[in-house]
Amino acid sequence: MLTLTTIAGVRSRREEAARTGVRIALVPTMGALHDGHLALVRRGRELADEVWASVFVNPAQFGPGEDFERYPRDLERDAALLAGAGASVLFAPATKEMFPRPSATVVDLPALTGGLCGAHRPGHFRGVALIVAKLLNVVQPHVAVFGAKDWQQAAVIRRLVEDLDMPVRIEVHPTVREDDGLARSSRNAYLDAGQRRAATVLHRALQRAAAAAAGGERRRAALEAILAAEVAAEPLARLQYAAAVDPDTLEARESVSGRALLALAVFVGATRLIDNIVVEVP
Ligand code: AMP
Repeated sequence: MLTLTTIAGVRSRREEAARTGVRIALVPTMGALHDGHLALVRRGRELADEVWASVFVNPAQFGPGEDFERYPRDLERDAALLAGAGASVLFAPATKEMFPRPSATVVDLPALTGGLCGAHRPGHFRGVALIVAKLLNVVQPHVAVFGAKDWQQAAVIRRLVEDLDMPVRIEVHPTVREDDGLARSSRNAYLDAGQRRAATVLHRALQRAAAAAAGGERRRAALEAILAAEVAAEPLARLQYAAAVDPDTLEARESVSGRALLALAVFVGATRLIDNIVVEVP
């Protein structure tokens, strides 16, 4: 695996790939890699000839008081994991390489970011959309792979690419979980043993609400109340939001029908965890 740290280096390697007709899948990450990220790499290998992964802790998507400074960073370990999973190129730029000066360009999708995480992390999705647009322009992959764990992020990126006619396929891979259902996340590393046990409440709450939906519960408020009640029963957990919305538009309707996205953000101690599930409402 080749590690590159400059945009110029990526562009020149990309030109070489174009000359030989090599198809590229991009997996953008913030590092601190786990099995969820590696599943995206493996999926990328099925979809393209080479997987290029990026590791960049993007300051633009962290708000004041969030965990930018203490976000786990271990590039050597990440590189070894990526090489083991079959990635061909790792792009790991310094902050100054991606942002030699603050971006004057704003990439905003207000229609998709007013609710869910967007309501609680102002500016977060502008930061995400900006860095993903930049990475897609730098790497110019044929396909880019994202995780369903960050459902709103994937919806934002799909729409960004559609609206701006970017020539890339967006692939969304199902959420990879621990044996007890906890969605894999770099932020799980912040949890102590008690908090780690408490963190299973997200998956449990989603399962409860999904069962109610499968049983015919269509009222949004009722589904959200089931999610909230399950979280309230866990003393170490504090609900930020519980939502039942349209999986594509992320719009909330009084009554859900067809497919519905059930989504949660929960603080366990100081650690903010998110999870979601898509259900069919009969
Ligand atoms: P991050 O490094 O947290 O920014 O995540 C990079 C990519 O990995 C994003 O597309 C995430 O949605 C995806 N991802 C993170 N955790 C998981 C997981 N447990 N299962 C599947 N994809 C994931």
